[in-house]
Amino acid sequence: MTAGEAAILCVVAVIGHLMALFWLCVEDYEIDLSRDRIYDLPIKDAQVRRELKNSLHTPMHAVILLLALLVGLFEARGLGTFLWTLVLTALWTEVWHYASHRAFHLKSLHWIHAEHHKSRLSSPFTALSFSFTEKLIFDLGIVGGMALLGLFIELNFYGIATWFVGYLIINSYGHANYEIRGESFMALKGTVLTSTVYHALHHSRYTGNYGLGTRVLDRLFETEWPDAAAVFDKVVVHKEPLHALRETVDSTEVQS
Ligand SMILES: [Zn+2]
Ligand SMILES: [Zn+2]
Repeated sequence: MTAGEAAILCVVAVIGHLMALFWLCVEDYEIDLSRDRIYDLPIKDAQVRRELKNSLHTPMHAVILLLALLVGLFEARGLGTFLWTLVLTALWTEVWHYASHRAFHLKSLHWIHAEHHKSRLSSPFTALSFSFTEKLIFDLGIVGGMALLGLFIELNFYGIATWFVGYLIINSYGHANYEIRGESFMALKGTVLTSTVYHALHHSRYTGNYGLGTRVLDRLFETEWPDAAAVFDKVVVHKEPLHALRETVDSTEVQS
């Protein structure tokens, strides 16, 4: 293993925790990052303690990537293979996450996913809080799917590892109880990409909005909450947090 490979594996192993600590400091020191509160409800210390305990196995991402390296997968190097591996990982993960997430919401499989849903209000530590089985299935699905693809085209280890780093950074604030995206987000990017508000609705209402980085599959399979954009508008444009987990927003109410 090269020094570069070892370095990025270390980053993958710890970046999720570092990001959660960063957002904790932002909260504690009241640093102004234009954050708009989503739910005007408190997150209890017991929840954060449970999430921290679950986060002990989060570095599993790095272990699985290390095993992939040791068995000789993803050997291509260079900018071209890096870029297409990164894009293909993002595309595959979007499909894998949506399909497995929908499956985890079936009664017979929900035990795998129930731990993550104990957090009805999400926090940056919720991004690290999954059952061991769920994390294992998620990671094996990503790396296994890419390994199958690697039978047909050259794939670069750094492309997959970099996707994990990006995922762990975005997923950290993607689980906060505040939105950091600005008012203009929904005009273009938000028509395709998910937001923190988007995933907060999945936690508070327990179903709907299953997508990871994009709204594409939720729209295709009609699993998106119809007021998702209206809630974003209420929280970010009108600076009005929601007051109850099941609160819905009339889409006509917040048009400015
Ligand atoms: Zn879920
Ligand atoms: Zn979540």
